[in-house]
Amino acid sequence: MRVNGAGAHLTTMPHYRGRFAPSPTGPLHFGSLVAALGSCLDARAVGGEWLLRMEDVDAPRCTVDAADAILHALDAFGFAWDGSVAWQSERDAAYAAALGQLRERGMVFPCACTRRELADSRLGVATDGASIYPGTCRDGLPAGRDGRAWRLRVNQEHVQFVDRVQGAVECDLHHEVGDFVLRRADGVFAYQLVVVVDDAEAGITHIVRGADLLASTPRQIFLQRCLGLPTPDYAHLPVVLNAAGEKLSKQTLAAPLNTVQPLSQLVSALHVLGQRPPADLVESSLDEFWSWAISHWSLALVPRQAPL
Ligand code: GLU
Repeated sequence: MRVNGAGAHLTTMPHYRGRFAPSPTGPLHFGSLVAALGSCLDARAVGGEWLLRMEDVDAPRCTVDAADAILHALDAFGFAWDGSVAWQSERDAAYAAALGQLRERGMVFPCACTRRELADSRLGVATDGASIYPGTCRDGLPAGRDGRAWRLRVNQEHVQFVDRVQGAVECDLHHEVGDFVLRRADGVFAYQLVVVVDDAEAGITHIVRGADLLASTPRQIFLQRCLGLPTPDYAHLPVVLNAAGEKLSKQTLAAPLNTVQPLSQLVSALHVLGQRPPADLVESSLDEFWSWAISHWSLALVPRQAPL
């Protein structure tokens, strides 16, 4: 995947609907706050809507406690979303329908490969760490093997788009990713499918999220085209790293947000997003914070990477 150049700027805004889509696998940390704040401000600054979706499709990894903690933290930080929260765990029928549509058109195929077999194929890994698919089952399952996962056929697809922060992105899906999974061997619908189906269903026009998801975007755009769905505008925000240079996450033991003192963390998140809040904003109220942040939001100031 090539990422190259400065971001394009949004000009007219007939209609803007954004969203924040956390996975309730643990509490929000500072990196999630940056993504939530950036997506919310980008929507509110143009009078747009901002929705909240709980990405709890991967039931074994998600907990009700984590979802509650996320809702509580967002509330404590003064986030206000439009409408009610969408829950992916209630949407299996929609995901099955999308997969069914692709099946009818021969665009997906069952795959018997195990993780081990894929790792052994030595084609290397895609930018998100998954093995590049060698095409083993695309023309039929090997004798005596059962299909475990469902994969989308990727032919000679080059996907290009202009990210509003990261600039021009180009991906040769066939060589860099290969046919990718839409339904996992354990029956769970894959992130790539559910995010595309849900964003389209909700009428999302602008996706603003962490740059850790940039590698997934060409897949999602290709899938949108396969399903005849519109492609939203994308902006991928800088990813916050810890002192060891790792992305903040549950795996790297990122500290949960401190919901008792939201202002200092909100102001720090604004700095990561390249905004220039006055020094005394940290002593203001939540209302004053939001009103300053919305009226001064400038995506053009957002850096491609967080400062070290
Ligand atoms: N649920 C994903 C996450 O928490 C975000 C999905 C998205 O914004 O597209 O990393």
